[in-house]
Amino acid sequence: MIPDWAAERRNMVETQLSRRGIHDSRVLASMGEIPREDFVPVESRVIAYSDQPVGIGFGQTISQPYMTALMAQCLELTGEERVLEVGSGCGYAAAVLSALASEVVTVEIVPELAALALHNLRRTGRGRNVRVIHGDGGWGYPKEAPYNAISVAAAAPEIPAALLDQLGDPGRLAIPVGTRQDQELRVIHKQNGRIQSRIATLCRFVPLRGGEGWH
Ligand code: SAH
Repeated sequence: MIPDWAAERRNMVETQLSRRGIHDSRVLASMGEIPREDFVPVESRVIAYSDQPVGIGFGQTISQPYMTALMAQCLELTGEERVLEVGSGCGYAAAVLSALASEVVTVEIVPELAALALHNLRRTGRGRNVRVIHGDGGWGYPKEAPYNAISVAAAAPEIPAALLDQLGDPGRLAIPVGTRQDQELRVIHKQNGRIQSRIATLCRFVPLRGGEGWH
């Protein structure tokens, strides 16, 4: 029997997002619309809407739906922004961000995953305002900077200086910072030259690789 994906999506939005405090109606609407089942590996489609990260190959995962929603909500997007995402993975979060902002640049260090993200975004019709770049996103993507918002989907020991530099003013950055095992999701708000930082939640992301990761 083919699962009723629309029903699974509605159920995820209600039980995993709304009830846990995701209140940004645009985030809820976009995640209620984007076919997450088309971003996970075929053999994992049945667990596409489960309350957990799902493996996508190369030791990487698609984030738990709640974490994608929380990060997007923390960026407070209105639809006008240019967004940088570090860690495209399968492209799902980039698809969500593309529905919430005007332009998305997403950088992925694993070439096969960059290709997969591009493929998934195109075939789900989400690729129009997304550019997928293969490279080390720990250095950001200076060519298109500054960004109104930056979302980092892999955990870093420190906030990479390049990302703070490439964050516009005003701008918001969401990034898991901590050890390889445990992190806190930090939300940085830059405004009038001032930087404020808060902790949105405790979390566990895959480690950032490349020059700004652990050595
Ligand atoms: N955004 C994805 C989550 C992907 S998991 C989602 O929609 O759920 C994190 C991704 O970050 C992995 O694909 C990993 O390969 C990538 N990554 C790790 N270090 C990176 C770096 N320095 N630059 C770019 N991508 C990186």
